Amino acid sequence: MFDLYSPDFWVILGAMILFMVLKTKKNRVSPALRGKQASLLGERLYTRFSRETPLPCLLADGKIYGKDFQERELPELPHNDHCQCYLEKLFQSGEEWFQQGPPLESNDNFDPDNLLPVHRRFLKYYLIAHHPESSDSLKKDYQDLLENVPLDPEIQKQIVDYIHQSQ
Ligand SMILES: [Zn+2]
Repeated sequence: MFDLYSPDFWVILGAMILFMVLKTKKNRVSPALRGKQASLLGERLYTRFSRETPLPCLLADGKIYGKDFQERELPELPHNDHCQCYLEKLFQSGEEWFQQGPPLESNDNFDPDNLLPVHRRFLKYYLIAHHPESSDSLKKDYQDLLENVPLDPEIQKQIVDYIHQSQ
């Protein structure tokens, strides 16, 4: 029988509890750390760009959702009746992803079926800067961003023409 009044009992009990706590802590590797080696990094949202693309979809385009990112919870899709957004899983490890740095810009021709990151960026900024539901400050912010996209003027023109033909 344990003697609850014996100081030894409390010392032993205290040591056991401390041991258990330390052991649990050691075994508990955070899911974020485990994920780094393996696979799923998060999910990136893409929208389909056209003059009809709703503003919330444009604003969400390119966002990454995942436990290591600012947006931890996956969004509820569709955003609205006209939403054509979709999510794509990102499978690289966090380290690789950050080492890659920003995607290389290119002045390759614009192909709506095979958009380069720089084309997507231009489309997104252009559509937000010209969206009827954008506030004045939003339009201004995105106009500034638009003017800083490193893209050949000829290709910018191709993209704007494409937008005006798109439904
Ligand atoms: Zn959407």
